[in-house]
Amino acid sequence: MMVRMTPASPRRGLSALAAVAALALTASACSSDGSSPAAGSVVTSFYPIQFATQQITGGAVPVTVLTKPGAEPHDLELAPQDIGGMTKARLVIYADGFQPAVDEAVELVDPTKVLDVADAANLTLTSPEEGDDAGEPAPEHDGGDVPDEHDEAAAHDGHDHGADDPHFWLDPSRYGAVAEAISARLSRDDPENASTYARNTARFVEKLSELDDEMRVGLERCRNRQLVTSHAAFGYLAARYGFEQRGITGVSPESEPSAAALKAVGDLVTSAGVTTIYQEALVEPHFAKTVAGSSGARVATLDPIEGITSSSLGADYFEVMRSNLVSLREGQGCS
Ligand SMILES: [Zn+2]
Repeated sequence: MMVRMTPASPRRGLSALAAVAALALTASACSSDGSSPAAGSVVTSFYPIQFATQQITGGAVPVTVLTKPGAEPHDLELAPQDIGGMTKARLVIYADGFQPAVDEAVELVDPTKVLDVADAANLTLTSPEEGDDAGEPAPEHDGGDVPDEHDEAAAHDGHDHGADDPHFWLDPSRYGAVAEAISARLSRDDPENASTYARNTARFVEKLSELDDEMRVGLERCRNRQLVTSHAAFGYLAARYGFEQRGITGVSPESEPSAAALKAVGDLVTSAGVTTIYQEALVEPHFAKTVAGSSGARVATLDPIEGITSSSLGADYFEVMRSNLVSLREGQGCS
């Protein structure tokens, strides 16, 4: 029997993680067949990375995911068997800076068996403050498609911004770049299947490109360019399709907005003629309702696709993105 024990906090430090990892290894060594379900598999940190990896491998290798469907990914806690599985995986694929528990556990994994996709994702936006907009483009940003940002950037210069905005998959072009990076790494590690990975990746990237075209055309002519969301997960989507994101709760959906931040968003909703405030499926829509109630706007669903559950508006990334497109076209008044 595995000992089920969830660390009290993902931030307890590496010695605690090492202890639970050792426990997991000992426990699995005692199991009847001596093997672990994660041995030889590719371990992915959360849904978008899992989905891309599955599309690329097409079943050639087992792919597991650390963030179970329906779990809130930002505050993920790892069980000992999760960490044990990571240490025995053929490859661990994650995005550094998104899930602190995964960032810490990766330190226990042989670095030659880890792929961090954050670089490939080209994370040019910083995490917004609560009630702030999508964050400022980093100075090296070279795209012409990001709307001109406000002047408050200087106001944040006094402190460390911390992590970049991690929600790259909501821009299909960034997601495609991540898929290419995953494919290149899988092919290098497993040359026998390289042609399969290349073929599957080409098909996946083509589907992302078609989705990108649909989004661009569908969101070209819209009455309102202010995108008011509860969880500020849509900065890359906003940048790609010409919106300006105003997140109510900040980049982590469980952070609490201040009364001042709520008032600022409420004022914006009124002054900019915003008719729709977006909530997501996984999080209690309490703040979105507060702002909507005081301004007469309605609440609609925009899914950050951090996991797929039975209540998701679609069975996979592509279906949910197309549901998001329908929500956006209606909520932003697009013709
Ligand atoms: Zn998020």
